[in-house]
This record gives sequence, structure tokens and C-alpha cells, in this order.
Amino acid sequence: MPEAPELHVAVEFLESCLPGQTITEAQVLRPSVVRSLADPFPEDAVGREFLSISRLGKFLLLALSGDHTLVINPKLTGGIQYVPSKQRVFKRTCVRFALADGNDLRYIDDRQMGQFYYVPNDLIETVPGLAEQGPDVLDDFSFDDFKANLKGFSGEIKGVLTRGRVIAGIGNAYADEILFHAGVYPFKKRRALSDDELRRIHQSSRAVVLDAIGQVRQRMGNQIDHKLRDFLAVHNKGGQPCPQCGNAITELRANQTITSYCRHCQPGMLLKN
Ligand SMILES: [Zn+2]
Repeated sequence: MPEAPELHVAVEFLESCLPGQTITEAQVLRPSVVRSLADPFPEDAVGREFLSISRLGKFLLLALSGDHTLVINPKLTGGIQYVPSKQRVFKRTCVRFALADGNDLRYIDDRQMGQFYYVPNDLIETVPGLAEQGPDVLDDFSFDDFKANLKGFSGEIKGVLTRGRVIAGIGNAYADEILFHAGVYPFKKRRALSDDELRRIHQSSRAVVLDAIGQVRQRMGNQIDHKLRDFLAVHNKGGQPCPQCGNAITELRANQTITSYCRHCQPGMLLKN
């Protein structure tokens, strides 16, 4: 799933080429991902101009002229492509906009689990999951705010982080990276975490994501639907040496989710509170 670093760099790219461009043609190829909250889509979008691009947690917002916005929740396999209109349209393409400059903006989604909303601006808040997100991982929120936000959530810290209500923009991969950086066992229960561990998680969240943005920016170019994660320390690197201590990284799979961590650097016991 694209997370804050990939989406952040995708936004930078789109901001450099989309604003000012008009949608000359719009096509829905896979209607199951599309949710139009008021107007007929795609017809109503044709002729509108892109104004600005932004990210809110794990959502992308593409503001259009005439007080409308495309809100994209890419979930597991969604992504955006900005490609020449003549380039082959993949089967996984769900929505396609032709632009005046000869390029297409396409929403692609292998498993069609993502959601693509076309909404009047006064209804943006009603997009499911958008307004319920916590402060963005790049927002400068204090440790006290972080602690106060955490209060309402119990369960394992990794799950708390990926749910997006305490910090928005973090998914499975970056939760592993943040907890490794913080030296915290991913399955430790939120209530069992010490103040010191919480402080380290708070600091690591922003630091890890900022560092990743730099790494992704170097690699991504215009391939903004790609997930570039070769530089990660532990996620998806089961069996490989921990960059900190050299012991093999542990990888566990539960509910179709991989958790990678170092038993030595992130000590803890499974099934213990
Ligand atoms: Zn280690």
C-alpha cells in the first residue's frame, strides 16, 4: 500500500505537471472503484481544470475548478499514472483522464480495493475514513498530543499505528520501520509501553518518514505508481541481517500482513501483555 513517503513524492510530481491542465476526456473503465457523491461521473469532470494536489494521510486530493475534488484512497494496490495518452492502457486501469498536454492521468488498481471519489468540495468531509484520520505523520504535533491521542486505543502498537487514527499516513511497511528505529517490539500492547518507548515512537515516526521521502524522491522520477522500498531497514527483509546488530530479521505473517522486526533490537515476547 502506498504510504506517506510514496504519496508525498507523487504529490510533488503531480504538483509540477497537473495544475492549469484541463480534462479533455474522461473514461471509467472499472466502475467498481468509483464513487460519485453528487454529479454524473465522468461526464461532469470533463472541461474542469486541475488546481492543486495534496495528501491527507493515505488519501490523495486533486482539486478541480468549479469546486470539485477527486479524492483517492488507494488502499492496497491503487496508484496514479501520468503517462502519454498513446501509451497502452493496462487492464488494471480503472479511470482515465486525457489532458490537453497529450498525457493521461490514470488511476490503476490491481485488486480494485481502492476508492476513487468525485465530490463537490462541501461534501469532502463525508468521504469515508478521510476525516476520521489523526494528525498527519509530517504534522508537527507534540509528544503530549501524541500521548493524549493514543489514550483511546488499545491493542498491539503496530496495529494502533497502521489504523491511522493516532497518526495518519503510516501503513504496514513504515510501521515496521518506525518501530525498528524506535527499538520497540511491534506486538507490544499499547498500555504496556513505557513513556520512554512512546517518546521514541513519536520521534521516530517523523524522522523515518522524512528520511524515506528523501530516498523515494531520488528513485521515483515519473514512475509515481511504483513502491520503491529497497532502502528499508527491516520491512520485508526476513532472514537478512539486521543493519544494526547483524542478527537475522524475523518475519511473521498474520492476516495477510507481514511484520518484520529484529528480536535483538526490538525485544519482547509474543502473546504477552
Ligand atoms: Zn538488530
